Amino acid sequence: MAGVYLHIPFCFTLCGYCDFYKSTKLDKMDQFQNVLLMEMESRSVDFRFPIDTFYVGGGTPSLIAADFYQKLFSLLHKNFNCSVNMECTIEVNPDDISEDYLHALKNAGFNRVSIGIQSFHEQDLRQMGRRHNAQQSMQAVALANSCGFSNIGIDLIYGLPWSTEQFFEKNLQIVKDLPIQHLSAYHLTIEKGTGFHRLKQSGKLTEIDDSRSLREYEMLCNEVEKMGMQHYEVSNFCLSGYESKHNSSYWNGVPYLGLGPGSHSFDGKKRRWNKSDLTLYNKGNLDLIFEEEVLSEVDFFNEQVMLGLRTSKGISLTEMEIRFPHYYLDFLKRIDKWIHRNNLVVTNGFITCSESSWFVVDSIIEDLFVV
Ligand code: SF4
Repeated sequence: MAGVYLHIPFCFTLCGYCDFYKSTKLDKMDQFQNVLLMEMESRSVDFRFPIDTFYVGGGTPSLIAADFYQKLFSLLHKNFNCSVNMECTIEVNPDDISEDYLHALKNAGFNRVSIGIQSFHEQDLRQMGRRHNAQQSMQAVALANSCGFSNIGIDLIYGLPWSTEQFFEKNLQIVKDLPIQHLSAYHLTIEKGTGFHRLKQSGKLTEIDDSRSLREYEMLCNEVEKMGMQHYEVSNFCLSGYESKHNSSYWNGVPYLGLGPGSHSFDGKKRRWNKSDLTLYNKGNLDLIFEEEVLSEVDFFNEQVMLGLRTSKGISLTEMEIRFPHYYLDFLKRIDKWIHRNNLVVTNGFITCSESSWFVVDSIIEDLFVV
């Protein structure tokens, strides 16, 4: 099992919270598309794993015309060993899509859409710098459904400093009635280099306190459970059978190939990343666009802990003992403290984070890291 990820680094406007690699220089899009096709063909030579997932993210993939994606799928099938039931996802913005566009994406080969909604409140959308309104978000979901997409995910952001718990609850009530199968809900974090970080530094934006964060997180878990969705990763929920296979493959440590500036790849031993530099990328010299490192045993150990504890599947103790014999006894000692505090649970040989503790999973993970 393996995946291919394409990073489309273009946005029409920039959102205040976003730290993904992106550019508003849309005049560079044509050359980018040429190089991306070239990179896909070239990298396929060394990436011989069967492909189960294909994911186009960004940036804003829905800024690119659908006929480009038709070319992309032709090249994908020509150069890679694609499985018959390959999960093929594209991220779209609500205000970019029309019935014709969605039909064209479906005909090209996509069978899953992820719609960047973030909130159904106009004030939230304006404050975050989103360019769509709430009405367009609801229409986008309805349109994707009526165009025959039966695997639809949306994103929400909570913990918004200017908003309230009541407004977040209203967002969840709206989600309840949407024909979606997957929900990603992220707490706002203010990352360096973003517009929100500059506002924070100038004292115009303050993150919410931990107690409100926890209340909103608990509200999220409770409401989503009532919708019949499973909580399968810290920030991800889905109806049974609709886990994002692509993201799950990252969490399970399977190989993936990243294409486009700012994308990451992993072949089971080495991690490679394309530099976040669109100008360099567009020059098309594929030998100069990436850097790579061979992962050490400690890197693999820490990654296993970090990825495993963020999922409902957890970490296999047997696998830890076999893969990391040098660190295993110390690991057992260190998880003991968290088990006694009911933050971690051992069931059938797997160690998982209790659902109420997912809110503080990052501090547990940090404590278990080998440094
Ligand atoms: S959140 Fe999406 S649309 Fe907004 S700047 Fe980031 S990548 Fe672009």
